[in-house]
Amino acid sequence: MIFRQLFDSVSGTYSYLLASRPGGEALILDPVLEKADRYCKLLQELDLKLVKAVDTHLHADHVTGLGELRDRTHCITIMGEQSKADVVSMRVSDGDKVTIEGLCLDVMYTPGHTDDSYSFSMGDRVFTGDTLLIRGTGRTDFQNGSARAQYDSIFNRLLKLPEETLVFPAHDYKGDTVSTIGEEKRYNPRLQVRSIDEYVELMGNLNLPNPRLMDVVIPANMHVGLHQDELEKQGLSLNARQAIESLGRTDVLLVDLRESSERAKHGTLSGALHAPYPSIEESLKPGGVLREVAAATGRRIVFFCAFGERSAMAVKAAKEAGLSNTAHIAGGLDAWKKAGGPVLHV
Ligand code: FE
Repeated sequence: MIFRQLFDSVSGTYSYLLASRPGGEALILDPVLEKADRYCKLLQELDLKLVKAVDTHLHADHVTGLGELRDRTHCITIMGEQSKADVVSMRVSDGDKVTIEGLCLDVMYTPGHTDDSYSFSMGDRVFTGDTLLIRGTGRTDFQNGSARAQYDSIFNRLLKLPEETLVFPAHDYKGDTVSTIGEEKRYNPRLQVRSIDEYVELMGNLNLPNPRLMDVVIPANMHVGLHQDELEKQGLSLNARQAIESLGRTDVLLVDLRESSERAKHGTLSGALHAPYPSIEESLKPGGVLREVAAATGRRIVFFCAFGERSAMAVKAAKEAGLSNTAHIAGGLDAWKKAGGPVLHV
């Protein structure tokens, strides 16, 4: 496995780059905007293709690199379903899995620091975001934080992992890089409480100043989504209503870009062809399935995904591959459902 812990000294943020092999797919956790150049250089040096960028929660102390990395590498952006970010490619919830070639992260909903805080466990290690820090815990006094919820996330979820599990947090301000569940259980001063009430009282008396750039950073992180209005101006976009009306039309071919797990969980559209986004370039090449189907049937390909990001990127990729008769459903299946469109369960 390729594993890199990357540090942003300005915000004290740790970002993690994961991949199973050189030449393969990579995932990054909690990237920082200002470090995008460095990540891209490292990806190139290690011969990796970034396919997923994940934030453990909506950060208040640094601007996320999710949007920038999506624009540069066409990767998928991922956050929890509770996140107030306007658009991400995929939203996950407790029990889901985030997969790339050769690696699988188990999604754990661990609210408390914020109401959209997630941890991700993978074999011998867990990425705890700002829920559990090394000899500390994330503050719970803004962004719908809750010391009560955090106690539950830590004591009833994270500390139930095997004691030797490596703990990789999203921040450290003292220079510590890694801990273990057992070590934190015994030596984390915040965890030496006898009851949930004692923890709530402890967290209520921290009296921390607000993060320096909070008023700028939080709104920036909420507007991370891919702007889909450019495609609309070019006539390459259907809104949910128009898409619903086109259902069953013989000159349209719906193409579902989501992963099998998303289709199983949220359903799909009647008659849709499944062509997962990660292999879009393959599918659009001469001889590729989308290329062939478009040529054989003369139908207009209408891409859709969960929220419209992957489909917007697919329209651009199709155009670059010389396939111009495509469009996407703005807002994805989410907008479709909200407009009352019928969903087929697979
Ligand atoms: Fe945080």
